Amino acid sequence: MIIQKCYKIKSTMPSTEGDPGSATDRKVAESKQAPVQIFYADYSFMDETGKWHDPFEYIFTNAVSSIGAALDARERSNSYRKFQVGATSLSISDERQEITSFAAPNSKVAKQATRRCAEIKIIDRAKDSGFNFTAGMFVVGTADHKKIEEVTGKPTPTLHPCVISCLPALDESSVVLSFGADKKLQAESMEAHTARELWEIYDTDELPAERVLYDFSPESFALAHTVYLDLTESVRSSHYKYPVEARKFHEIKTRTQRSEAVVEAIYTAQLER
Ligand SMILES: [Zn+2]
Repeated sequence: MIIQKCYKIKSTMPSTEGDPGSATDRKVAESKQAPVQIFYADYSFMDETGKWHDPFEYIFTNAVSSIGAALDARERSNSYRKFQVGATSLSISDERQEITSFAAPNSKVAKQATRRCAEIKIIDRAKDSGFNFTAGMFVVGTADHKKIEEVTGKPTPTLHPCVISCLPALDESSVVLSFGADKKLQAESMEAHTARELWEIYDTDELPAERVLYDFSPESFALAHTVYLDLTESVRSSHYKYPVEARKFHEIKTRTQRSEAVVEAIYTAQLER
């Protein structure tokens, strides 16, 4: 289903990539490709107040800033063939009940050099800091179906995390929002999947049905958030029946159900608008 309404999010960060000629310049260039932490919140205190703060809700409330951060990160990519990717995560620490966000570009300096995907850089960095679960991953890549097929084997509308290193590092209940951006660094199209759905797509030779969205406005994500709360009403009410100390485990146990609800809410909201 194609929605005609269009809301483009433009990257605002100026390009700061210099000529990586000297050793100092190369060091600066490398540090620019490292993941950058852009957001942090502690969601555990909500349990003490009695109100459940479902970390998946950050996917909706932080969507616009996360897309912007992924677009900015993409400008820092040093892909030798200009296959530029930027990503932003919403990463959770189950132990501390904290959520944070990292943004990073991909890098591959030469044909023979090792490829480092933006997503795996972020996941590794997050895990190093104790953020073990990726609730959301926003990925901005090319909108060129042919270039995508060269990399993933499937000419999908947006670039998905690769099956070699990135998908295995996600949980089946991680939500992946992937965006196709044009040369002017504007997000043009979006797809939403759970990592489990992506696994199923890359497990077969068939092409997935295209479900592309074109509305990334704050209003669209706000509506999707409302739909999500409706879809997860039963999870929410059962959550309150658990004693406070058991709610953390209930949150973890219901992730698959809630990640599917996030994807459904995003598509449903855009059909309603
Ligand atoms: Zn990858």
